[in-house]
Amino acid sequence: MNSSWRRVQRWTTNNLFSTPSSILSREACLPPIISYCGYRRPLAALGIACAPPTGNPASARLPPSFPSLFTFRAQDSSRPLMRGLSSVYLPLNWQTEVPSPPLRKHLPVDALAHLNLPLQEGLTPFPLVLDATPPLGTEITPPKMMKKTYRALRSHSRNMLQQDWAAKWPALHYYEHPPSFSPHPFSRLGKFLGGRIHRMRAGKSYLAAHPVWFDDYPDTTCPRCGTGPESFQHTMLTSPARSGARNLLLKEASSRGHDTTLCTDPSLRRALDEYIAYTKTSFPPDMTPNFFTYPSPPPPPPRPR
Ligand SMILES: [Zn+2]
Repeated sequence: MNSSWRRVQRWTTNNLFSTPSSILSREACLPPIISYCGYRRPLAALGIACAPPTGNPASARLPPSFPSLFTFRAQDSSRPLMRGLSSVYLPLNWQTEVPSPPLRKHLPVDALAHLNLPLQEGLTPFPLVLDATPPLGTEITPPKMMKKTYRALRSHSRNMLQQDWAAKWPALHYYEHPPSFSPHPFSRLGKFLGGRIHRMRAGKSYLAAHPVWFDDYPDTTCPRCGTGPESFQHTMLTSPARSGARNLLLKEASSRGHDTTLCTDPSLRRALDEYIAYTKTSFPPDMTPNFFTYPSPPPPPPRPR
């Protein structure tokens, strides 16, 4: 599953196989699958916790101690709800950690309710998301307010995913961009040109400062100007060989002196597109043979006499 997920991330960004997986996931704006599953499970649990028990069978089987606005619960005598248990139903306090492996005396919804614990944090009871206005005379908080709380809990769950992503899969030292769920503005440039930027940001591209693993003594000097290593910053903002195109297209961005806003500012998307296409930055060597010196072929073996 992990390798399939990485393939999706690579397809989205057009990154090379050598790109580290922690950087690949940041470039694709797709969190690692383990973290993402850890986010989706509490989200499903939150949906059940905030659904009215009279309309959702799973909510009607939440543990009796679960802090719901509606205390209605289905009877244990309801046989279809108890299907799959060994012999007798043993209620589990929702704040108690679920044993591993799970006992067949607990309902799966007991384990699901426990996933809401990190989201609770002093909130009691959980909001109730109603599709219709509650009947007159019932003492229920206005639905709009509860939906607001529900959305805040979902947002909190998303923030927890982002923190988990950053903590468990730290990027390498040269990569400065934090994890994000929103696609980058340059992702709309198309597969080829957008892929050039993804590769340069990831530090695995055709630039001279991004050498391949099998080259022990790489020459990182920019082949176009020879004034310094051909890094992402150099090629976009400081290389004298590209100054004409830069002054024409990226003058405002180059004055800031850093490449951070260059890729995140939507207004620079079109200029970035034209700059990379015109200067052929990070294009494959066989598309820009003038900028590369290939090793001369070995001499042919002597002819037998
Ligand atoms: Zn240069």
